Amino acid sequence: MAIKITEECINCGACEPECPNNAIYEGGVEWAIADGTAAKGAYTLVDGSVVDADAKNAPVGVDTYFIVASKCTECQGFHDEPQCASVCPVDCCVADEAYVETVEALMSKKTALHG
Ligand code: SF4
Ligand code: SF4
Repeated sequence: MAIKITEECINCGACEPECPNNAIYEGGVEWAIADGTAAKGAYTLVDGSVVDADAKNAPVGVDTYFIVASKCTECQGFHDEPQCASVCPVDCCVADEAYVETVEALMSKKTALHG
């Protein structure tokens, strides 16, 4: 499943550069599937809707850093464990029960993002 950032986040920014999928954004920042990935054209999000990879989308959160679930692969294919959770000083990167995904699904997401 994807990882999410809770309201305990202290906005230190340590997690953002660690994400292999560029799935982490500072609060209030617009995000795009294509940011830091090789994705082009139509891309299906975890909620089933389809966006253009280059389209800018509304921030998921404003007050704290946030993770775009449609870009989070739980670091599958890159690292043994979620890197954001590894570096977070307040342990606020936790499993997002709203998006339970198999390893196979996470690897498919990685392929969709990076080819
Ligand atoms: S678990 Fe990995 S892919 Fe997901 S947001 Fe954290 S660093 Fe990025
Ligand atoms: S490392 Fe943790 S506290 Fe720092 S910005 Fe990321 S989620 Fe927030």
